[in-house]
Amino acid sequence: VIKTIGTCDEIRDLVLKMRGQGETVGLVPTMGALHEGHLSLVRESIASCDHTVISIFVNPTQFGPSEDLAKYPRTLDSDLAMLNEVAKDYAKTFPIVFAPNEVEMYPEGYSTSVDPPAVAAPLEGVFRPGHFRGVTTVVLKLFAAVPANTAYFGLKDYQQFRVIQAMTQDLNLGLRIHACPTVRESDGLAMSSRNRYLSPEDRVRALSLSQALSAAQKLLDQGIRCPIEIMDCIRQTLSVVDQVDYAAIVDSDTLQPVEEISSEAVALIAARVGGTRLIDNRVLRVK
Ligand code: AMP
Repeated sequence: VIKTIGTCDEIRDLVLKMRGQGETVGLVPTMGALHEGHLSLVRESIASCDHTVISIFVNPTQFGPSEDLAKYPRTLDSDLAMLNEVAKDYAKTFPIVFAPNEVEMYPEGYSTSVDPPAVAAPLEGVFRPGHFRGVTTVVLKLFAAVPANTAYFGLKDYQQFRVIQAMTQDLNLGLRIHACPTVRESDGLAMSSRNRYLSPEDRVRALSLSQALSAAQKLLDQGIRCPIEIMDCIRQTLSVVDQVDYAAIVDSDTLQPVEEISSEAVALIAARVGGTRLIDNRVLRVK
């Protein structure tokens, strides 16, 4: 069965031992409440690395004062059961779970943080001030505790992936950042630990995010390259949600506005449905 480790020293010693034997290690950082999206990252890591470490830590520093830290789902037992199931499909050593508590990650007197890169400023950066500082800080701490060859992130959190990629490059962290595609429900809803809060009626309205993104690609397929025109359609499709924090078509590297879609851009949406804030995105490609 899966081994669970709670301290940074213990997981680092174990990973350094593996690395010292020439074995490769993959890291999959999560906040738990695992679903198929997370498991796709775990499978990718198990398939490509000798060992896989899944970290499970609900990071308080990436939540704003009015956000859902207290009610964020914590389901460690079922998370471990799901990982055990996944591990059975592979003839390899079992993955390792690193599940530190809050004091282990943020002991009293803790005061250092990582100033996030420029790509953290727009979009989520506007609506969740301090969020990416919390993310870069905890991810750097996880990279230090788990000195892996490769870390796996989901494109579901597109801006987060770009932020981590920039941090890794800017600070010479020397590990590979591997991005995995967004896993969706059969009707298109991007899987998220927060989907469980949606009422049946909200669940239907939540579909408008992925529908707006598909409609955007369809317009591009019809030859419409102007973001303003495509945004009109996105906004119309989103009219059923309670609030749109942002909906934008931006450069897929810098996340800055584009005037025309030449070969590729990314459309990103953050919207509230009932009491739940959902995000989704899609890379739009000229075919
Ligand atoms: P979280 O626990 O929600 O912070 O997510 C942990 C990791 O799983 C992040 O790299 C996310 O981008 C990734 N992830 C979350 N949902 C999905 C999804 N539906 N598809 C692919 N990756 C996901």
